[in-house]
Amino acid sequence: MRLPLSFEFFPPKTPEGVAKLRAVRQQLYARQPEFCSVTYGAGGSTHDGTFGTVRQILEEGVDAACHFSCIGATRATVREQLKELKAMGVKRLVALRGDLPSGYGMGGEFHYASDLVAFIREETGRDFHIEVACYPEVHPQARSPEADLQAFAAKVHAGADSAITQYFFSPEAYFRFVEEARRLGLDTPIVPGIMPITSSTQLMRFSDACGAEIPRWIRLRLQGFGDDTASIKAFGLDVVTELCARLASGGAPALHFYTMNQSVATLALLERLGWEG
Ligand code: FAD
Repeated sequence: MRLPLSFEFFPPKTPEGVAKLRAVRQQLYARQPEFCSVTYGAGGSTHDGTFGTVRQILEEGVDAACHFSCIGATRATVREQLKELKAMGVKRLVALRGDLPSGYGMGGEFHYASDLVAFIREETGRDFHIEVACYPEVHPQARSPEADLQAFAAKVHAGADSAITQYFFSPEAYFRFVEEARRLGLDTPIVPGIMPITSSTQLMRFSDACGAEIPRWIRLRLQGFGDDTASIKAFGLDVVTELCARLASGGAPALHFYTMNQSVATLALLERLGWEG
């Protein structure tokens, strides 16, 4: 069964990047996503690029979700930005704490994403559909898995409508997380975040930073391919197709793709899954 899809992009830094992403989006729109989302650099560093890309997606007739991180922000700046997003016609937010580069400290008037979700609801009622992040393999700064689950529950109680997970390669981690959330009485949709595998070094770097686990057998196989990118991509396609198929048959409500502003790997996965329509 084909699941609803969403695609994530980051704001390009150059005019060439903007043009390339426009072409990538057109290719991915053919797979009829429910929405496309655009990441937001913590501390507001990508404000113009993020809001600009969100505006383009909306102009292209596709629903856009603006990621919105609160670390280092004040209530006054968040209030202003919510007004700006509403005026642009944005209906969907991914509400996050974000990570400031080391040395910045926490600062700001929000400590956790749950504070941001509560503030958005206070300020704008039901104007926005609010997505939040969650971590089947546990957020790297969490005191414990149980504390992280409680942090997720706090975001739902503050008013989140649905959640997107950090990427993972062990479906068991996702199914267990969903089961534990349901046991706490949280019935929010929990959408798996899917990272296509296209490069070994990039994946290892990312995963170490965000706490996503690459199972030993996948890591060893990837290392074994060395610089052979064709084999890395072919293996990655097998592994991630299998993951998506298991998630779909196990009841995942939708899939969210971390596209890395590329269409080829995501399109190949959807083709393998037979989800081309
Ligand atoms: P929170 O939910 O606030 O959790 C952060 C940490 O605090 C966790 O360890 C949690 O267990 C702990 N915690 C939460 N509440 C409490 C409490 N009350 N007491 C004690 N501890 C608590 N980053 C960006 O900068 N820009 C993006 O656009 C972006 N998009 C993302 C999209 C998705 C789908 C995901 C999964 C992540 C994304 N990130 C993005 C990364 C995210 O900002 C980081 O993972 C960040 O470290 C945590 O953000 P959060 O919203 O999950 O934070």
